[in-house]
Amino acid sequence: AQPATTLDATVDNISGRELDAHWMPFTANRAFKADPKIVTGADGMYFRNASGGRVLDGSSGLFTSAAGHCRKEIADAVDRQLRELDYAPSFMRGHPKSFELAKRIAALTPPGINRVFFVNSGSEAVDTAMKICLAYQRARGRGTRTLFVSRERAYHGVNFGGVALSGMQKNREAFGFGLPTVAHMRHTWLAENKFTKGQPEHGAELAEDLERMVALYGADNIAACFVEPIAGSCGVLVPPSGYLERLREICDRHGILLVFDEVICGFGRTGKAFAAQSFGVTPDVMTMAKAITNGAQPMGAVAVRQEVYDTVTESASDGAVEFFHGYTFSAHPAACAASLAALDIYEGEGLFERARAMSARFLDAIFGLADLPVVTDIRGYGLIAGIDFALANRPGLRGNEIQARLFDAGLHVKATGDCAIVAPAFIVEDSHIDEMCSVLRDVLKSY
Ligand code: PMP
Repeated sequence: AQPATTLDATVDNISGRELDAHWMPFTANRAFKADPKIVTGADGMYFRNASGGRVLDGSSGLFTSAAGHCRKEIADAVDRQLRELDYAPSFMRGHPKSFELAKRIAALTPPGINRVFFVNSGSEAVDTAMKICLAYQRARGRGTRTLFVSRERAYHGVNFGGVALSGMQKNREAFGFGLPTVAHMRHTWLAENKFTKGQPEHGAELAEDLERMVALYGADNIAACFVEPIAGSCGVLVPPSGYLERLREICDRHGILLVFDEVICGFGRTGKAFAAQSFGVTPDVMTMAKAITNGAQPMGAVAVRQEVYDTVTESASDGAVEFFHGYTFSAHPAACAASLAALDIYEGEGLFERARAMSARFLDAIFGLADLPVVTDIRGYGLIAGIDFALANRPGLRGNEIQARLFDAGLHVKATGDCAIVAPAFIVEDSHIDEMCSVLRDVLKSY
């Protein structure tokens, strides 16, 4: 269906000081308020902008809206839920949908990963996963294991734990040292892999950095290794063939938990439910968020191997709380209802399979932009691709400018530094891919 073109009168009047009060996240606030990019509605593959025009959503919102926007089934499920049970205390009380949802998610995760802890965002999922790893190591008598290993060019959210794990300078420099208990391995972007579609050939040996961390800090001091299977917000760095397998072996050899941050990859982006399945490597702990509700409600989750859950829960005396952690809104009924409805759509419409089926068409089209002089590299897997732009002035400025120009030309994509991330909803049709690439080409050819 086409979005309506009528304008909400209140939005039409947004101008000047009406924008002042909102300090916007990850936004150039002064630039935004001088030239606001506002969306007022959405339907399927499109947003509606403030003048009633259509903007093709090239990034599924922020990798959230995998089944397309404004799905009626989800809206109805949330509406019904809020009328029946709008809130349930999340500590020492339960409500039926949270148990049903945990079971549904456990059925989607790789075998053995079957206990699910609910949170409200990807950042909360990451910090929760870090605490689970520490609690697990302590519960099994390995309390000295407090160090985390992660990677340069990683994004694990913005809370204190996640920002320390992350390897993005901009996200860390204003906040001092963060956690001192994180060591970073090298990232997996290698010049010799430029313009590789799918998993790059070179770089599996970069996993040996984890062995170097073991040699330096001692396995007895390392709790867990955190990686995004595909590093998303740092520009879609697809793991070299064999890399994740080697990390798994090294973790096993040294009793280190392997954590996959699947906040972007989870729920079909790579063509299977999780990247763990696409790459055939099973972690001990996985984080997820974003598409868990198709973006319709804030929610995240941490799924763990049963042994992790058993070790932590059996360490406490009978009747005592085992894991002193949780959020007021953990497993919120409306979020659970939205997620169950989203999973029904993913399953009913075979959308993970569709993401897999559309991948070659999508990647071929995006890689077709490689001839443009401003494009310096393209990477991609499943239904996600990163397009790097030649640097100009300060890092990030060209990415922001291109993103703004694309929006004005009718395409929303996420920019990260000087890279655009294209990741359409799984309902994407050939015509959307053509439209996306034609707007990209039109804007990029002027550089
Ligand atoms: N981890 C990864 C891999 C992410 O991509 C993101 C968000 N882009 C986060 C964590 C943080 O999620 P949120 O913004 O929901 O806190």
